[in-house]
Amino acid sequence: MSKFWSKVIRGLAPYVPGEQPKDRKYVKLNTNENPYPPSPAVLEVIREHTGQDLRLYPDPNGDILKTAVASCYQVDKNNVFVGNGSDEVLAFTFIAFFKQEKPILYPDITYSFYPVYSKLFEIEALTIPLTTDFQINLDDYPAENGGVIFPNPNAPTGRLLNLEQIESLLKRNTASVVVVDEAYVDFGGVSCIPLVENYPNLLVCQTLSKARSLAGMRIGYAIGAPELIDGLERAKNCFNSYTLSRLAQVAGTAAMNDRLYFETTCQAIIATREWVVRELEQLDFEVVPSAANFVFIRHYNRKAGELFCELRQRGVLVRYFNLPRIDNHLRVTIGTDDEMKELIKQLKAILSGG
Ligand SMILES: *Cc1c(COP(=O)(O)O)cnc(C)c1O
Repeated sequence: MSKFWSKVIRGLAPYVPGEQPKDRKYVKLNTNENPYPPSPAVLEVIREHTGQDLRLYPDPNGDILKTAVASCYQVDKNNVFVGNGSDEVLAFTFIAFFKQEKPILYPDITYSFYPVYSKLFEIEALTIPLTTDFQINLDDYPAENGGVIFPNPNAPTGRLLNLEQIESLLKRNTASVVVVDEAYVDFGGVSCIPLVENYPNLLVCQTLSKARSLAGMRIGYAIGAPELIDGLERAKNCFNSYTLSRLAQVAGTAAMNDRLYFETTCQAIIATREWVVRELEQLDFEVVPSAANFVFIRHYNRKAGELFCELRQRGVLVRYFNLPRIDNHLRVTIGTDDEMKELIKQLKAILSGG
């Protein structure tokens, strides 16, 4: 605390990202990064564009990336907004649409950036509890609200809603913006981007950090009706004209265009998840059904906090949230087959007291 801090900054509780430790080598299963490298085409364009041109500002509109995203999802370029990671896209979303008279709604257990942004931008929020088995029940979301946001699949649970459930919310919730954060949708979900055409209040956010192996590049986008995109552009252009670097724009474009690589790596992660779930169940873990690149697990007789520490000592990093309702769960990112074999091996040793 410093006397120089503003009142807003004093009252904040910043988001705490998963650790990126430098003390030793870990099997890193704590921040939902993709275990596979970016597409070779991405690395190639980064090399090609690393030169003299970096003295010049990038295109403030990110046109090439917008075009690539639009063609990937068969929407118009004016349906696309691009930003410096979807965290930034979400921040602009809160500013552009969620500062309203009525409170916004999101699940009680969800991506922890939502409460952080609510506080930062002084937006009132109401949390809606997940069901006892950690599902979002959209029927619990009252029609009187300043906006709705949830991830699909949800984080950190991995549970998925289907398009019918989302569409039935959109049918009754027409007076405020509904944001579906699809950071993990490519690992087993169905995107609701096709609904954008019929619902002018739907905004779908995606990121290149997870399914496209580019967390280090910081690229995200949103797809929605042109009026929503214009709102985001206004917010962005009052903050920073050049949110995406030259390298991020060409890298993101190459990643969106390499469909085969994207599909192959997603399928590999899904296949790994399937065997890991079976192994974890055999070790007496309850596994929440996951459509994401992570699993949310609870052991029947060992405390999550303890397992977290023991795994860490043994060189395996997972994520533990000491929060109400989930303080006995661990979130484990799906890595390569070898990384997951190491996780299972260490868990077996811990659980057998070895
Ligand atoms: C990882 C994640 C994001 C942020 O992704 P970036 O593009 O890396 O900022 C957004 N929403 C959810 C639910 C996430 O898990």
